[in-house]
Amino acid sequence: MLKVGGVIIRKVFLDCLPRKVKHIDWKNSVGYDVYFVYDDVVGYIKIISHYVIRKNSKSRGFLKIEYQNIISDICIENFSDARLSSIIGKCARKLIEGINDIPITDPWMVKYFQGGIDEAKLYSRGSHKKFFPICPDCGSIKELEISPYTLYRTKSIGCVCSDGRSYPEKFVMSVLKQLNVKYNFEYKADWLKGYKGSNKSARLDYYLPNNNLVIEVDGGFHKKPHAQSRLTVKEVSKKDEWKDKQIRDNGLNVIRVPADESTYKYMKDSVIERLGDIFDLTNIDWRKCEEQAMKNVIKEVCIYYESNKHLKRLEIANMFNICVNTLREYLKRGSVTDWCSYNVVDSINSNRERFVADNKRRSKSVDVYKDDVFLKSYISTAELVNKCLVDFGVQFHQANISSVVCGKRRQHKGYTFKLKHAN
Ligand SMILES: [Zn+2]
Repeated sequence: MLKVGGVIIRKVFLDCLPRKVKHIDWKNSVGYDVYFVYDDVVGYIKIISHYVIRKNSKSRGFLKIEYQNIISDICIENFSDARLSSIIGKCARKLIEGINDIPITDPWMVKYFQGGIDEAKLYSRGSHKKFFPICPDCGSIKELEISPYTLYRTKSIGCVCSDGRSYPEKFVMSVLKQLNVKYNFEYKADWLKGYKGSNKSARLDYYLPNNNLVIEVDGGFHKKPHAQSRLTVKEVSKKDEWKDKQIRDNGLNVIRVPADESTYKYMKDSVIERLGDIFDLTNIDWRKCEEQAMKNVIKEVCIYYESNKHLKRLEIANMFNICVNTLREYLKRGSVTDWCSYNVVDSINSNRERFVADNKRRSKSVDVYKDDVFLKSYISTAELVNKCLVDFGVQFHQANISSVVCGKRRQHKGYTFKLKHAN
């Protein structure tokens, strides 16, 4: 439930409506979309028509409104005071096949139903009736039930294959990509350490080094308690304030993009409002943002890697604005779900072989002499130190061997040593 300072919010935002002197001009409000918050439901209500009923010389204004494809009547006072329970309840949950079933209103949700379109049409997007979803990315069936309403709101079933990035984060990412600006996602730095004495760095959603700018995407938990980090609203805002100060103290600007809702309309408006003054957004393909926001980044990266294996890891990582470690992590995870054929064991072995070969190349073999008589050769001084007790009955020390080799010392425990390059 949306609470600010402990108060539940139920509000219809009427600022957008036309006015006649001080009052709202309801007659000319027909066709407007009005944003509302009702507990944990947020959305837009369309005003379809306005009419007046006269009874006993009193007249009352009414509105015909549309919400989620269902049309209802409401008197204007109730609408202004956000007494919307009947509308929310009725509109959000009532199913009229062919009118507000999921395949009609939200075809993107169909792929989460095991029974496809036939199962999906048994639900409206506001339904609280739960079902067992199938992950469209990895094909696994979730053991936990979910309601269409939760899926609609979060755009996620929380599958293990998820990239852990929210819809709003990915929406903003697509905008930045289209603008062709350089950015780092989940940026960490030394100057972001130290909040409440913590040794861990706080993370910035997007750091744009060439613009001296930080963009933070403020999800719903900035207004309600955050289950994951167990932070209260107050704690989240305290941490945000601290972060903002650190950012400014380091000569950067910060813009916070509200992301209360994981929807196309909300995010588009939010980005235009907050970033419109800084960037030229006229060429942004907003539908592409939506498309990217619905995609699993890990899967994208794996598929790209699979068809571009000739490229260096760093090149691929740069292309997706991630670091090489993250890329490796993604490929490992993607190989489990068959998105790519990155073989973890092969990769480790090839790394190890390279490491051993490098070491061999770097290390020099060492010959041991006593009284100028050659005794034995070792692949490295390390090997000599390990085996000398068995071979000669004395323990050599690395530093002393080195001293003899470079002429600082004549002998070590009666022995002398010479280095030579291995082949
Ligand atoms: Zn999955």
